[in-house]
Amino acid sequence: MRALPAAFVGPIQSDETGRDSLPRCRPISIGFLLDILARHCASLVDFTPPSQSDPMTFDTSFGQPTSLQSDQDDLLEVTETQDIHTILICKDALWLGAKHDGYSLASFDNYKLRREPGVARLDLHRKQNSPLYAALQQSHHTFGLLETMLDRHIPERRLLRRLHDGKVVITTQEVPGLLRECQDHIRSLRKTNPDAFKQWSQRARHALESTRQFILWESHEADRTFSKVELNSQDVGRILHTIAAITEASWSFLDCELHEAGVVSDNLTGLQLPGNINEACRHEMAEDGWCPFAASQLHGYSTCALGFASTCKPFVRKGVDHRDHSQCTHKMCCSNNIDPATYSNLHVTEDCTCKSVVPPVEQIKHALSRKEIPIIRIHAMTTPDDERVTMTCSTASSGTSYVAISHVWADGLGSTAEKGLPTCQLIRLAESAHQLVDGGFLWLDALCVPEEKELRKLAIGLMGQTYRKATKVFVIDSGIRSCSVNASTEERLLRVVVSGWMQRLWTLQEAVLASELIFQFSDGLLTLGNLLRLGTDWTQPVAIQLCCAFGDICMLMSTLSRPPSSLRLQGVINALRGRSTSKISDETLAISSLLGVDSYALASIDSLTERMKMFLLQVREIPSKMPFLVDGPRLTGPGFRWAPATFLCSGEASRMVGDGDVALCTPEGLLARYYCFTLETPVALHEDNVILSKITLSGPDLVLYYADVNDPVEPASGDELCNAIVLQTEPSFDNLAMAVSMEEGLMRDSNGVVRRRCSYIKAIQVKFGMLGVRSDVPLREPVDVEEGRFVDVCLT
Ligand SMILES: [Zn+2]
Ligand SMILES: [Zn+2]
Repeated sequence: MRALPAAFVGPIQSDETGRDSLPRCRPISIGFLLDILARHCASLVDFTPPSQSDPMTFDTSFGQPTSLQSDQDDLLEVTETQDIHTILICKDALWLGAKHDGYSLASFDNYKLRREPGVARLDLHRKQNSPLYAALQQSHHTFGLLETMLDRHIPERRLLRRLHDGKVVITTQEVPGLLRECQDHIRSLRKTNPDAFKQWSQRARHALESTRQFILWESHEADRTFSKVELNSQDVGRILHTIAAITEASWSFLDCELHEAGVVSDNLTGLQLPGNINEACRHEMAEDGWCPFAASQLHGYSTCALGFASTCKPFVRKGVDHRDHSQCTHKMCCSNNIDPATYSNLHVTEDCTCKSVVPPVEQIKHALSRKEIPIIRIHAMTTPDDERVTMTCSTASSGTSYVAISHVWADGLGSTAEKGLPTCQLIRLAESAHQLVDGGFLWLDALCVPEEKELRKLAIGLMGQTYRKATKVFVIDSGIRSCSVNASTEERLLRVVVSGWMQRLWTLQEAVLASELIFQFSDGLLTLGNLLRLGTDWTQPVAIQLCCAFGDICMLMSTLSRPPSSLRLQGVINALRGRSTSKISDETLAISSLLGVDSYALASIDSLTERMKMFLLQVREIPSKMPFLVDGPRLTGPGFRWAPATFLCSGEASRMVGDGDVALCTPEGLLARYYCFTLETPVALHEDNVILSKITLSGPDLVLYYADVNDPVEPASGDELCNAIVLQTEPSFDNLAMAVSMEEGLMRDSNGVVRRRCSYIKAIQVKFGMLGVRSDVPLREPVDVEEGRFVDVCLT
């Protein structure tokens, strides 16, 4: 028996590459996302740079702080309640008391040495037990980092505040202002001295990378710098969160500036922060009444956006059936799902008892049976003692302009044409419709979709057209409506990003197909273009990060004029992350119009599995990485065992990015070209993590370590034996892969291409090399593996 060579057995190097512990980061750069917004949505978003009408008088002399004198008594005194108009990128954190002012500007690496040479030179153990060292670290990775970005001294009074009780805190209130000064400085540097600009960008990258490493180190175990000082965990959490938020803000700023300068940023694509860095903040938010799901979504987008949200009040939907978010999890907000058995409409005011009114149902049915889109006009007759409404029906084919309403049922506007809606709601809808389009016609599912099954299918078949043909699509959501149109850009963006509307399945298509998307705020309306334009100032970290939450929607909008492609499907799957529905059977129906699939034909199939199969067959070209990346349940039955049973996954699921490698979905199986390793002896693969290694005692063979000594290796009944491992492309250190059973013979597809038929067993992760082998559990003897190569396969 060949034992695992002891010399190569080490502790797990890092668990940062594990599927479950992936750092929560956006794998594409913000610059790239903005580029998408700018290139494809020029009509949507006006990219006029922010006005520079108020130029800063800025001292560009390098290396000389403007003032060496400052005293903490100069600090502004504040109450703990933040000014509501202040945009913070995180909650204020306790200042550990390092003296920052009074020293000449030092390079980032020399920051601590310049201040406390004695402490900076202590050995690791004594450093970690020194409160002074912890304080210096805090100062180094906040003031020191920002000074490197700005090339100048930043006085303590810009980031520190004294509370009434005498405690000093660090606040991020002035971070956007500092970034603005930085932008003025480096843009003039870029014009006048390109070399100095290049050096600046290298210094900034270095400082950011050092701080990122520091955060990684601090987050890895509880037993680090700040926990050795006597602090409670909330304080430690906030201190680290401040450092992470400042790092992210500076990182995305640098990313954008380099993008603007045309510098192809090689390594600067996405800041990889450890997933647990936001944990303390998420915990505090849950205690403040925030939905854990909303916090988890924001955490997926950005540390700054999450930090900003933590300084805002949570939104809790009001109404009969509605609860707070205490039952929600980070994977799902329960307050959005409805139970059809107990569902009832909400009135405009809680004490209203007005009657429901039904639209002209027969005319609606007649329109649908002719495959025409019914639209409704509401006439409200209100007198001081009476409110009455009547409705008339027309069709979209008459060329009449109309507004299509996009809403979530949990807000109480759900119904069927046969049941209608409360008078008070109809009056409010009529007002909006008349304000938005001449004639005041509208389409709303609750009024225009009958309960009758056949007609319902016809309405679903027309759904894509309904939103595409609408003059305007109007978003009504109680969370968005809780915010004033005059609130800060950041708050308006936040209320949309965390709204129920952004978390629902159907609303994706409704948003993407809209020729003009309009949001209703408490006291006014805002188009998507306006909402985003206000958030494209690169010195506003929160706004910019929240804008990126619309990246997927904008990308889909921008490609609508072209035929559907595998990249479109990839975009749709990315955009579906974090969205859910009360009715899982709606999934393929709700995205079919985005991918050119016949929704009526889909709606006519009852079995969910068959619906998904037909959907995939009609889409036909799918990203070849999809079988590797979509987690969760799979379809059953020959030809489709590789296929996901659903695309709906949590907001924390990884995004699909990159090239357009295409696989073809056929009834026989998925036709693709993958990198395959064949096993010389078939094995029952019980583990999800295996190691392919060239390091063996007997020489340069390739072997597969697939079980430790405690694992059973005998196949259980029903186990399929794995004789090949399939990767999407050539192996890297860590690979998403599939265990398959590869047939002996060859097959020929309809184009005459010779293929190997592979039956999908399960998704696995393959580590290539010896890193990551545990030393505590001895591994079982490996099996020999043939060198990998690209093979045309038919995955069944
Ligand atoms: Zn919730
Ligand atoms: Zn009412």
